[in-house]
Amino acid sequence: MLELDQARAQLETLRMPFAAEVLESRLQQATDKQSTYVAFLIDLLGEELAQRLKRTIQTKIRMARLPYQKTLAEFDFAFQPSVDKKMIDELATMNFVRQAANVILLGPPGVGKSHLALALALEALLKGIAVYFTTVTQLVEELRRAHHANRLDAKMRQYLRPRILVVDEVGYLPMDALAANLFFQLVSTRYERGSMILTSNKSFGDWGEMFGDSVLASAILDRLLHHSHILNIRGQSYRLKDKMRAGVYGVPPDKPAAASDRVSAKENAHA
Ligand code: ADP
Ligand code: MG
Repeated sequence: MLELDQARAQLETLRMPFAAEVLESRLQQATDKQSTYVAFLIDLLGEELAQRLKRTIQTKIRMARLPYQKTLAEFDFAFQPSVDKKMIDELATMNFVRQAANVILLGPPGVGKSHLALALALEALLKGIAVYFTTVTQLVEELRRAHHANRLDAKMRQYLRPRILVVDEVGYLPMDALAANLFFQLVSTRYERGSMILTSNKSFGDWGEMFGDSVLASAILDRLLHHSHILNIRGQSYRLKDKMRAGVYGVPPDKPAAASDRVSAKENAHA
């Protein structure tokens, strides 16, 4: 027992707390299985390494500021047939990051844009790729504050650092001239240097109005789209799917009948 305590204390001194914690149980297992000394050592060190990796990833997820965790496994591709699973699988390989290409997810509210952006971000983090998540509103506010404090360069460098910058909800609010200009500077700074994953409920044709300047919008799109993968998600909101089924909402335009017999019956009555 004294020896066991000593070994545990040594592991703690060496800053191997996870190995220290499981030392006794793993030793017992090794004795029961009549493991070799080296097999026991591999088992114990493996536990320490696995736990450390898990902790490192958790820290990176915190630093990435993901608002919540979503996975690709949780995404129901059958519900959203306009999302090409093969394309998502290809994006999950993170080849696009090596090419500093962008991913742009377009579509109406609730179709899974943020879900997919977050899930790809998580895949990246698990592969050791640095990510930072922000909404366009937060981003523009940060840049605006930095601009007024005369430290825009430093702020831009900060946004250049992560290999993937996720910018969620582009287009929910219109931008004033300064905001649009700051967003343009950000996109220019990252162009061909780092990937961005953008989500927007506005089609590209509406970006001129969103930025209040069609020339600036073209310049932004020119850089964003040069190396990019675009997912145009059509279809119905996942948030409303249960309500649709219950007939609370009308049949979505591209989903005739079946989705709600009650509503289609009503439509027939009108016809
Ligand atoms: P958007 O960003 O396009 O407005 P979200 O990604 O926030 O939509 O999706 C809304 C909610 O529905 C989230 O909780 C998300 O996880 C879920 N969701 C959306 N599409 C799917 C899907 N195809 N499979 C599983 N969950 C989905
Ligand atoms: Mg969203």
